[in-house]
Amino acid sequence: MKVNGSCHCGQITYEADVDPERVGICNCTDCQVLTGSAFRVSVPAPAAAFRLPTGHPKIYVKTADSGVKRRHSFCPNCGTPVSASADVDDPPSYSLRVGCLAQRAQLPPKRRIWCKSALVWAQNVSSIPGIEGQ
Ligand SMILES: [Zn+2]
Ligand SMILES: [Zn+2]
Repeated sequence: MKVNGSCHCGQITYEADVDPERVGICNCTDCQVLTGSAFRVSVPAPAAAFRLPTGHPKIYVKTADSGVKRRHSFCPNCGTPVSASADVDDPPSYSLRVGCLAQRAQLPPKRRIWCKSALVWAQNVSSIPGIEGQ
């Protein structure tokens, strides 16, 4: 599926080709902090079809407890996360943040990982009362 994304301020735009069957939720604590939310939804995009027509993301290198480093890119102006990749100059793929993709409504997650650190209250939000207009 061809997808396109943008950061919130619009400086950074990008295009990619993703497999909708590979959309996943990550419940690791790094993703909770880096998103400021309960979990992250992402999908891998092969580097061959990943293009960044506009903008210059800033890079933050995250080191996991295991010692593995990942490059996280984000908009230097508005802070929107764009992608993550291996800590090399020509990574084979980029992990795109589904919430920034125009096609996000058509990309429901197919798997969850790091379930041990999942926030229990975030696993079923449909029972929480919805208030219209907020
Ligand atoms: Zn931005
Ligand atoms: Zn994670």
